[in-house]
Formats: sequence, C-alpha cells, structure tokens
Amino acid sequence: MTESGDRLAQVRATIAAAAIRAGRDPSEIELVAASKAQPPEAVAEVLEAGHALFGESRVQEARAKIPLLPSRARWHFIGHLQKNKIRAAFPLFELFHGIDSVAVASEMNRLAAEAGAFPRLLLEVNLAAESSKFGFTPDSLLREFDTLLGFDRIAIDGLMALPPPAPTAEGSRKYFVQLRETRDRLSRTLGIPLPHLSMGMSTDYQVAIEEGATLVRIGTAIFGERRAKSWKPTASFDDT
Ligand SMILES: *Cc1c(COP(=O)(O)O)cnc(C)c1O
Repeated sequence: MTESGDRLAQVRATIAAAAIRAGRDPSEIELVAASKAQPPEAVAEVLEAGHALFGESRVQEARAKIPLLPSRARWHFIGHLQKNKIRAAFPLFELFHGIDSVAVASEMNRLAAEAGAFPRLLLEVNLAAESSKFGFTPDSLLREFDTLLGFDRIAIDGLMALPPPAPTAEGSRKYFVQLRETRDRLSRTLGIPLPHLSMGMSTDYQVAIEEGATLVRIGTAIFGERRAKSWKPTASFDDT
C-alpha cells in the first residue's frame, strides 16, 4: 500500500475507535480528506486507496484540480467563500462548510436561483470570538437565523467551527462542546433539524468525534505535511 493509503487506513480505524468509545455508530461520521495544497497525483492516490470525499479551501485551486481527477471523487468546500467566487463554486461542491455571514448566504441564495442550484451549507461559528476570524458568534446566529431561513434556495444542514489552535487535543474539547450546544439550542428554539457538525482536524478529531462531530476535516494525517500554501497547475512542474 502507498504511504497515504496506510495513513488513511489508520485514520479510519481511529475514527471508528473514537466513535465506539463515545457510544456512536462509526457510520455517522464522514471523513473529508482536506486536499488543499495537494497535487492531483496525491489526491488520486487516496482515491485509489478507496476514499472519495475531499475538501478544498480555494475555489480557484479546486477549479483547476477537480477536472484532473476521476468523476467518482466528491468535493466539499471548506474555506472562506468570497462572493465573487460563488457562481464558479456551485457546480464543484456538494456541501459548503464555512458560510460565515448573512451577506454571503444571501448572495448564494440569489445566485443559486439564477444558476438553478440548491446548495447545501453549514454556518461557521466563531466560538472564541476571535476578531481575526470569520464566522457568526453564537448570539448573532440566533438573531440572524430568521433571515437565513427566508433564503429558499439554500439548505442549512448544520454548523462548522475552526477553533483556535490548542496545545493539546483536549484543549479543543470545550469548543466542540460549545458548538454542539449551540446547535442543540438553535435546533430546539427554531424547531428545525441541524444534523451536521463539522469539527475536528488532524490533531483533535478524536475529541471532536467524542463530542458529536458528523464531519471531520483531515489533511495532514492522511496526506502528510503540506509542502506549499496552494497547488497551481504550473507549480507541479516547477517543484519537481
Ligand atoms: C486544511 C484544513 C483542515 C485540515 O487541516 P489538517 O491539520 O491538515 O488536518 C481542516 N479544516 C480546514 C478549514 C482546513 O482549511
């Protein structure tokens, strides 16, 4: 097996073990292999090892990469979506993880009507109230949900968080608990299901699963260290 194939098998086993430890069915947790900055050959290797769901965080990079891979690969957008990239992103992604403002959701709704699309999305919650980060605060989310529910072309499937880096995986637990509680409160107050919680990365996904993650976004633990900030079609020639 290839190195990334080995690491994929390890990550899958660790996901299953964390789920069982938490009394959950491992099939409730979907692995999104974060392939941003990885060249298409690296993605193809993971695809051939039997994993088909990938996460990209730049529309431009994804637009160049996706056509180079077999169509059985499926894609989620896990980055910060800029308004001027929304239209190009629709046909590429099944789910948008990090929708971080009413303005972006509104623009998605408007462009989806034009494009005949019905995008599914998760709202990003800024749990540590870091001003440098994108996202709704838990309070603003409750205030703005009425507006969001009025957008009839978009489906809000749950919440996503990208907590500040913690020295240990345990350090992230309080944020994962907070995201789950925010979801539970919204769901109860508004009477709507918000089934998905996208939380947990290479260093802390076990804890995220223990706290209810349904989507984990894992890059390094599968692909190894990222060697560049992004992948560009020409960079693969320059780098080798
Ligand atoms: C890159 C990325 C990940 C994966 O990070 P790793 O530490 O490599 O597992 C997860 N979520 C988002 C939003 C990312 O951009």
